[in-house]
Amino acid sequence: MHFEVLTLFPEMLTPVFEASIIGRARQTGCISVTCTDIRAYTKDKHRRVDDTPYGGGYGMVMQCQPVVDCIRGVKEKLTGSTRVIYMSPQGRLFNNDICKEYAGYDNLILLCGHYEGIDERIIELEVDEELSVGNYVLTGGELPAAIVVDAVARRIDGVLPAGECFEDESLQDGLLEYPQYTRPREFEGLCVPEVLLNGNHAEIEKWRRAESLKRTLAKRPDLLNKES
Ligand code: SAM
Repeated sequence: MHFEVLTLFPEMLTPVFEASIIGRARQTGCISVTCTDIRAYTKDKHRRVDDTPYGGGYGMVMQCQPVVDCIRGVKEKLTGSTRVIYMSPQGRLFNNDICKEYAGYDNLILLCGHYEGIDERIIELEVDEELSVGNYVLTGGELPAAIVVDAVARRIDGVLPAGECFEDESLQDGLLEYPQYTRPREFEGLCVPEVLLNGNHAEIEKWRRAESLKRTLAKRPDLLNKES
């Protein structure tokens, strides 16, 4: 799967996509990620990409020409199914179901706004969907785009290290994950539950399921009330 992040600040993202599990998945070829500098597409002689808003008001708005040309330029080079997503506080709220849906595409193009956002006509012309990572406003779409790449990538075959599986984790079956422990058996008087030490896998499974239900009820009762 290929992720194409369109941004005015590729330097914000380059190190994020080089590190850890995502960095390794790129090296092994399970996924590819490119950060494209929108400014490279401007036709303005001063390399401008934004201007003041019509009608007045604070801040700057990213202009149509560089952004539309950037989206079209990268799209031209892609093959397979592609979705163009504008990271925006006005969008559909990102969740596990959307992750699953996105993992079915060959390419995701993630457009990052900055300043006051982007000219509305860009959305009309080239964007398939707006996506929000939460009900708050950030300074730019770069961190939201990194969240989407990370969350979708870990569903792609070969991205997670052998033995790890996204299907065992919180929210996957509508429940939060059971508590996890590692060595030592006792730390500052707190002991690992006995059931995890006895090697009885059926007992361990039963305990984990019960703990999942208990903590979902305590921390996220909304998940249990959801239909489906
Ligand atoms: N003026 C815009 C509004 O009120 O809808 C907000 C612009 S925000 C300061 C700048 C950029 O950050 C947006 O264009 C968007 O790409 C990104 N952004 C901010 N909050 C976001 C969120 N919750 N989810 C996704 N992207 C967000």
